[in-house]
Amino acid sequence: MNTITRRRLIKTFCALPLAASLPRIGNAQGTPDFSQLKAGYAQRLKKILATGKLPYIDIESSCNASRVDVGAIAQSMDRLNIGLMALSADIGKDQFSKGIRFDNLSERLLASYPDRFIPVGNGGQPPALTGAPNEFLDAQEVAARKKQMMLLGEFEFRHYPSSRQVKRGELDRDVRVPIDGPVAHRVFSLSETMGMPFQIHYEVEDELLAPLERMLEGYPKARVIWCHLAQVRYIERASHYTPAYVDSLVRRFPNLYFDTAFGDASSIYPLSSQRHARVWTAFGGLKDEWRDLIVAYPGRFLSALDLGQDRLDRIAEYDQRHRDFLKRLPTEPQHQVAYRSAWSLLFGEDFGRGSN
Ligand SMILES: [Zn+2]
Repeated sequence: MNTITRRRLIKTFCALPLAASLPRIGNAQGTPDFSQLKAGYAQRLKKILATGKLPYIDIESSCNASRVDVGAIAQSMDRLNIGLMALSADIGKDQFSKGIRFDNLSERLLASYPDRFIPVGNGGQPPALTGAPNEFLDAQEVAARKKQMMLLGEFEFRHYPSSRQVKRGELDRDVRVPIDGPVAHRVFSLSETMGMPFQIHYEVEDELLAPLERMLEGYPKARVIWCHLAQVRYIERASHYTPAYVDSLVRRFPNLYFDTAFGDASSIYPLSSQRHARVWTAFGGLKDEWRDLIVAYPGRFLSALDLGQDRLDRIAEYDQRHRDFLKRLPTEPQHQVAYRSAWSLLFGEDFGRGSN
């Protein structure tokens, strides 16, 4: 952005009291008006850009809806210049045992902060996705068809216990929901029919790649975000997953995206004792081959923090880590990955063009 444009933007935003300029969101049915949301999002992103800072869209974070301190997150987003966040609710054991299959956290977030939260479905994980998959998917689909969300939450088809869960001795998040089974067919089909993106957590193992490719072939219009680019917990299980392999996926599947929520160079997965964020060199640099891939197709890679309820209070640390990755990209791809890719995915147009 040139200086004149930046000055003009600053002037515009200083002249408008924020409250007066924010769109009113929603209607009597609790369904958000996407065009009003989009206007507020664009305004917020442009406001941050006008200060010379880089905003980004966190496409993948989650929380426990009954414990999350929304005001604290909103304040942190302002302090850290985080543009937007798709903060999804995970349905915990308590809610699940009460029969809850859809949590309306997004509606509550938009009621307070319509210019920074993206309405998103719930996390597809145990117990909901494994204990009552059809009820869970029914509820997500009803909300999706009522346009209560812009994307579906992260579905865990293959999930090893996370590093933090291992440390807490919680090994029950060892999830296997076949990527070519009935649950997956329903999710891919829903995404294809509605044009709505969804996220998958899918550990990298050689034997898991072919079934995913078959699903992508079978549902070419499904919009899939494969979370955690190059996060490989056991290298001996994943000899086929290389930058060249991801390059081939990107070329074969135009609706496949990757988010960039991964650990730093020193992060070790405790069950394998391996440095699982494979984009980094041993000395903490971004490997040339991964950087070249992202630079070649920046529109297919998305910013993400992957916050969860157990680490929401570490948002500054996660922000710092993510920015440490972004700053290693050239300026144009940096802006593309930070917010433009998500914008195109959600709104089907380039940021700064069309009606925004
Ligand atoms: Zn994940």
